[in-house]
Amino acid sequence: MPTRPCWVEIRTQSIEENFRFLAGQAAPHAELLAIVKADAYGHGLALCAYAAVRAGARWLGVTSVEEGVAARAVCPDAGILVIGGVFPGQGAALAAHRLAAVAWEPWQLDEMESAAVAAGLPPQSLPVHLEIDTGMSRQGADPAALPPLLARFHAASPLKLDGVMTHLFAADEADGVITAMQMDRMDRALEQLSGAGLWAEWLNVGASAALLAGQAAALATLAARHGMKAMMRPGLVLYGLAPEFLTSIEGEQPALLSAARGRLKPVLSWKTRVTGVRSVPAGTVVGYNGTFVATEPMRLALLPAGYADGLDRKLGNRFGLLVRGQRAPLVGRVSMDQSVIDVTEIPGVAPGDEVVIIGVQGDEAITAFDHARVCDTIVWEVFTRIGPRVPRIAV
Ligand SMILES: *Cc1c(COP(=O)(O)O)cnc(C)c1O
Repeated sequence: MPTRPCWVEIRTQSIEENFRFLAGQAAPHAELLAIVKADAYGHGLALCAYAAVRAGARWLGVTSVEEGVAARAVCPDAGILVIGGVFPGQGAALAAHRLAAVAWEPWQLDEMESAAVAAGLPPQSLPVHLEIDTGMSRQGADPAALPPLLARFHAASPLKLDGVMTHLFAADEADGVITAMQMDRMDRALEQLSGAGLWAEWLNVGASAALLAGQAAALATLAARHGMKAMMRPGLVLYGLAPEFLTSIEGEQPALLSAARGRLKPVLSWKTRVTGVRSVPAGTVVGYNGTFVATEPMRLALLPAGYADGLDRKLGNRFGLLVRGQRAPLVGRVSMDQSVIDVTEIPGVAPGDEVVIIGVQGDEAITAFDHARVCDTIVWEVFTRIGPRVPRIAV
C-alpha cells in the first residue's frame, strides 16, 4: 500500500562516494569506522550500513547492543563497535553477534566476561575498546583509575583489549589547544598500558570535525609511537554535511575542510505532497490559536507533515518549504500531523504537488543547517528527530 506522502529519500550512492572520498583523505593515516548509530542519524540503518560497507568500511559504530544486532543482520562480516557500551543482561547478545564494545566501568567488563565464559569463548576473543576520559567527563575511565581495569585483560580472560578510545570534545575549535591536551593525556594513558605489559591494535579517536581539521596524521604519529594503528569515527560527514567550525578556522580553511565542502554530497532529502489548496479572505486565522492571520486574500496549501514527523514546531511562522521551485512560508503553528504553507505568490499549486522540506527543488535548496539555525539546534538533532513513521526510501 502506498504510504501517506511524507517520506525521506536516501541516496545510497552518495554515502558510498562520501565514504570513499573520506577514506582516501584519511589514508594512509587512519582507518575509518563508519558511524551508523541512531538509525544512521535518522537516515535508516540498514540502507546506510550496507552502503558504507559496500564502499569499503570495515568497521561500523552503533550506540547500543540492539543497534549492533540490527547492523549485524545486514553486515555479516563488518567489525561492529557498540560505542555506548553494554547494559546489564546484554552480554550474551554481544557475544552471539560478534560485536565489539566500548567499556570503562568494571561492571561492564563483568557483564562481558561472564557472557563470554557462558558462551564458551576462548581466551582473548571478545573485543573491547577501553575508553579513557581525556577531559570530556562523559564516558571513559579516569586515567588515574586505569590499573585495576587493565588487570582485567590477563592472558586467560576471554576479553581482548582490541582498542583504546577517547572522544574529542572540541575538535571543531580552531586553535586545537583542547585537542592537543586530550592527545597528551591519551599519550600518558598509553604509557600505562605498555607499563602493564598490554598492547592494543587500535587507537580510536576523533569524529567528523577531527577528521576535517586534519588530525589523522597527528593521531597516526601518536599511534605509531605505541605500536598501534589509528582509527577515526566519522558520522556527519558520511551523510554529506561538513560540520561548521566554531572559530577562526573558517577563515583559515584547513585544506581538507574546504575540499570536503566541495566534495561531500548530502544523502537525505525529505519530501511531502500538497493535500489540498484553499483560498481564504483577509482576516482568516490559520492553525491552533490563530497565530497567523491572513492580511489579504490568500491561497493556503495543506501538507501531511507535522511535528510527529520531525517537522519542528518552532518552524511555524518562521520558515519556508519549497513547492514549484519557490519558497512557501509555513503559516500558523505546525500541528502534530499537518502543516500549512502560503502559496499565494506561487501560481498553479495543486493537490499532489511535491514539497521539499530538506533537499533541492529547481534552483532552490533547503539544508538541515537551515532547519537547525531557525530551531536553535544542530543538524545532528534535525536528522535524528525525523520520526520513525516517515519511510526511508533508497533512491
Ligand atoms: C556520534 C559519535 C561520533 C560521530 O560524530 P560526528 O561528529 O557525527 O562525526 C564519533 N564518536 C562518538 C563517540 C560518537 O558518539
